[in-house]
Amino acid sequence: MMLNLFRSFTVFFVFALAACANLPDNPANESSGQIVITNVTAIDAVNGVRANVDILIDGEQISAVDQDLSASTHSGAKRIDGTGKYLIPGLWDAHVHLAYHPDIGHEVFFPLSLAHGITYLRDTGGHLDKLAEARAISASDAIAPDLYVSGPLVDGKNRVYAGQSAGTPDLSVGVANEAQAIAQVDKLAAQGVDFIKAYEMLSPTALKAVATRAKYHNLPVTGHSPLSMTVRQSIMAGMKDMQHLRNLEMDCAVDPQSLLAERQEKIAENKEKYGGKLRSSLHRLQRAKAVAAKNEAVCNELIAVMKKSGVSQTPTLVISRFLSRKLYAEKRWQDTYAWMPKSIAKGWLERSVGFADREPTASDIAYDKWLLAMVSSLDKAGISILAGTDSPIAFTTPGISLHEELAMLVEAGLTPMEAIGTATIEPAKFLNLQDKQGSISPSRKADLVLLNADPLSDIRNLIAIDAVFKDGRYLDRNRLKQMRDAPSKLD
Ligand SMILES: [Zn+2]
Repeated sequence: MMLNLFRSFTVFFVFALAACANLPDNPANESSGQIVITNVTAIDAVNGVRANVDILIDGEQISAVDQDLSASTHSGAKRIDGTGKYLIPGLWDAHVHLAYHPDIGHEVFFPLSLAHGITYLRDTGGHLDKLAEARAISASDAIAPDLYVSGPLVDGKNRVYAGQSAGTPDLSVGVANEAQAIAQVDKLAAQGVDFIKAYEMLSPTALKAVATRAKYHNLPVTGHSPLSMTVRQSIMAGMKDMQHLRNLEMDCAVDPQSLLAERQEKIAENKEKYGGKLRSSLHRLQRAKAVAAKNEAVCNELIAVMKKSGVSQTPTLVISRFLSRKLYAEKRWQDTYAWMPKSIAKGWLERSVGFADREPTASDIAYDKWLLAMVSSLDKAGISILAGTDSPIAFTTPGISLHEELAMLVEAGLTPMEAIGTATIEPAKFLNLQDKQGSISPSRKADLVLLNADPLSDIRNLIAIDAVFKDGRYLDRNRLKQMRDAPSKLD
């Protein structure tokens, strides 16, 4: 989460949660037996393009990829003609918040995600009690995306998301020192989180303790590089994945050390209880001047450190470009709000229309260019890039926002195949799941998306979804449309 523009939230309505209301069980078109998709073009970032292959799905797994799985050898299997169609692995949105808003939880995210080909969600910050029902549904036999969670952001003593305003809901815990950091990571590990999210107000000592303890528990650490440190120091401390390219501009400027000294001075002077204002003031103080003072040699040296340390980046361009790209001002984007619960759709539309006249400032535009250039440099250097959106913050409609993110990654210079990789194998690698998913190969999960158009000729063809397979179950176009429309029936 990153923006503080959203203080004018309407009153939150907590409605009774009906666990699988949007995901009816056992419709007629599902199958949990064998399925053969025939004569399809399989596309994934590990194996490349394989034209005219047959894919055998057995239960929840892919069991064969072959030139000809003839009807005689799999006579009991349901056969789906893939002629003229394209098959990709199920997609990830690697940055979402199911606990950000009480009316935009799993009952919105799960159906909208599946309807848009997303079979995996990485929740990057929220209290576990608020995610408990989503985790239970995801782990059950119900048709739902796989959900991977960090639990609350592990922030410093002056935490940013402490519930102090509607725009900063309580999504975090604060740790003031090494002992508290260790205790918090131990607690999250015991609660079964999949990774740790470190946050922006941590002290260098606390971040180091978080990363070291997480490593002890075999949990990868993602997050925002703390403002009290340089990005290089965060990497050295053990951070493995970074969100929004956050604070990278300061370490790609002419003199990162003097910028750090200036931040440390302001942090030491801080009298505010919550970190939100301090964080915003530091970004205001340094972002624009750091962007203007970008130094390629300094930046390339940092990128080399990332590469050597195996650090990935989740740029979340769709939200990082909020002020400059103004997606929310476009009619076609506002139309996607109709898929949201009624109260949300109304509020988002009013505020989108209200903001629509705001022109980007010169520094918004400079930052936009900086973001795209940075993604291009990271890509050229072979840094792992993950596709994430920060949905539902800043009018990023769940599901469809991932497709915008992928288009923006292509705009930044990735090939469509690389973009597909950012939403499949790359997030899988972050969680060490690359042998279970992320490619179309035997023994991988049968989480797949069948497309009517070639995503390599235009990344926007990823939205031309004919069917989704989740755990080997076939969700046809009608079923996906029902899922897309289900949240709009909520108040
Ligand atoms: Zn976020």
